[in-house]
Formats: sequence, structure tokens, C-alpha cells
Amino acid sequence: MIFCKAAPAAMASFPRSVGSELCVWPEMRQLCLRKNLLYEFIRFLAIPFRTMRGVSRVLTGVSRCCNIPNMSSSLHIELVPCLRDNYAYLLHDEETGTVGVVDPSEAAPLIDVLDRRKWNLNYILNTHHHCDHTGGNMDLKERYGAKVIGSALDKESIPGIDIALNDGDKWMFASHEVLVTTTPGHTRGHICFYFPGSKSIFTGDTLFSLSCGKLLHGTPQQMFSSLSKIKLLPEDTKIYCGHECTLSNSKFALSIEPGNKELQSYAARVANRRSKGLPTIPTTLKKEKLCNPFLRTSIREIRQSLNVLESASDEEALGTICQAKDNF
Ligand SMILES: [Zn+2]
Ligand SMILES: [Zn+2]
Repeated sequence: MIFCKAAPAAMASFPRSVGSELCVWPEMRQLCLRKNLLYEFIRFLAIPFRTMRGVSRVLTGVSRCCNIPNMSSSLHIELVPCLRDNYAYLLHDEETGTVGVVDPSEAAPLIDVLDRRKWNLNYILNTHHHCDHTGGNMDLKERYGAKVIGSALDKESIPGIDIALNDGDKWMFASHEVLVTTTPGHTRGHICFYFPGSKSIFTGDTLFSLSCGKLLHGTPQQMFSSLSKIKLLPEDTKIYCGHECTLSNSKFALSIEPGNKELQSYAARVANRRSKGLPTIPTTLKKEKLCNPFLRTSIREIRQSLNVLESASDEEALGTICQAKDNF
């Protein structure tokens, strides 16, 4: 059973220190502060007029000639395992040959693939500054002349950053729209890259399959707001996260929601795939909404398992789930 704690309440605590270009006048600012679910949904799906303005404010050296979304999508996404359990993702636009990589933990595995394919690397996209997501930046930049893209809030800590993006900005990867949203919680400057034409989002260490990132530089309230933004995307959105940790996450998830049949069958499928060395990523938003306890803070069974009161807020419940996972 689901308690009555819907996303609009969560949105009331959504931080809006950046990306408020719409709110130029005081009365408009007031209006914006009274944001609701619909507003956030529209904002996150990024109205081109507004985002193009944001882009001109912060971007340098980026193609701005095309603002027509490529809905047919010739974007190819390839998962490249790095370090112990990280994933970097190679992006290849088949029409133009443009190549990017999301979160290169290290250079060698990517150079290996790029050289085999005889591809040049144009862009490096970082979800946040941690070295298991940026460790390959400088070697790749030096070798290929790639431009590094990351959060304006991480400008001082992302190695080699060239293009600093803010919440709500739109950037173009060849003809593909990329919508940037800030998702603080794991780190202060964490961002996600959403490709609406490919129905794909790169969530770094904000949302994993069956868990979310540790709250290293953020609060449960911030993480709840960040996850709520992702939850507004279409359910068939593919989620590409920074780590292969689904199997261990499934053990924790089952421990606090053992009666969830969807979770039971997903956990079995995950165990089967991992036993064969196969990835569990990408996952989908639909699957995560059904199985991921960090997106299910209002579920009675989860709350009862962790002694969270029915009257407790979703943010409080999320804080308790995060703590329990840390100690699991
Ligand atoms: Zn991290
Ligand atoms: Zn990480």
C-alpha cells in the first residue's frame, strides 16, 4: 500500500538557486517559487526557447545551429567497464561520426575501443567530480583534443573542464538534444545528462539500479528532490548509471521489501546475468519505480521494516533507508 505522499509535496523543497531565467521580475519569481509538479515536468523536459538562451550564456565552442530534436535517434551507446565496477559510456552519432564518453574513470579501456574503431573523441561528459568518474579526463583530452563538459558548480574540481553547464541548460551532441539537470545529494554539483531523443539518462552516482548514491555532500532532502526529478521522466527511459552494483543492491532491497514480487523476479534475473558476467545496465525507470526502495519511500512494507512512522515524510524515510543501506 502506498501512503499519500505524492511528488508535488517533494517539489516544494526543490532548491532553485540556479536556472531561474524565467523568473526575471519579483512577481514572476514568486510565481516560480510556487512551483508544482506540472511546472517541474515542463521545465525538466526543457522548452527549447528557454534552454537555448541558457546555452548562449554559458557555452563556448558548442554547435548551436540545430535546435530540432532528433527523435529518430542515430545515437549508439556502448558500455565500457572501468576500474572495479565503474561503467563509462561511449556515445557515437552514426550520422556525423561525433563521439563522446560519459564518466571515463580511466583512459586505457576507452583508448582501446576508440583505437580499434578508429574513432576520434570529441567530448567528455562528467556527471560529477569524483576521480572514479573523471580519472581518464586529462589523458583522453591530451590524446584526442576532446572538450570536457561538467557542472558549473564543479568547475574547480573537474580536471580539464572546458564547458560549464547549469541546471536547465540544453547542449547539443551532434543533432541530439542533451538536457542538463542538477541532482545534488551524492555531491553538491552532481548533474545528470538526459537525451530525450534516445529516451536515455546518464545518472552517474545519483540513481543506481536498486539504490542511489551515498549522501557524501548532501542531505536526504536534496537527494529526494533529485530522485523526484528523475521520476518525472517517461517510464521507458533507459537509465545508465555509474556503477555495476545491482546484485549487492538487490540483497539490501529484498531485506526491506521481501514481499515485492517484481523485485524478487528482477533480483533473480540480475543474479543470473551477473553469474554470466553480463551487465545489468541499462535499467529502466519503470523497473526502478517498481523495485528500487530509494524511489519507494512511501511503501508500507519498507517503512515497517525500518521502523519509519506512517507520519514521517518521504525525505525522512529516504534518510533512514540511506542509513540502513550504509550499515547493511
Ligand atoms: Zn561519486
Ligand atoms: Zn562513482
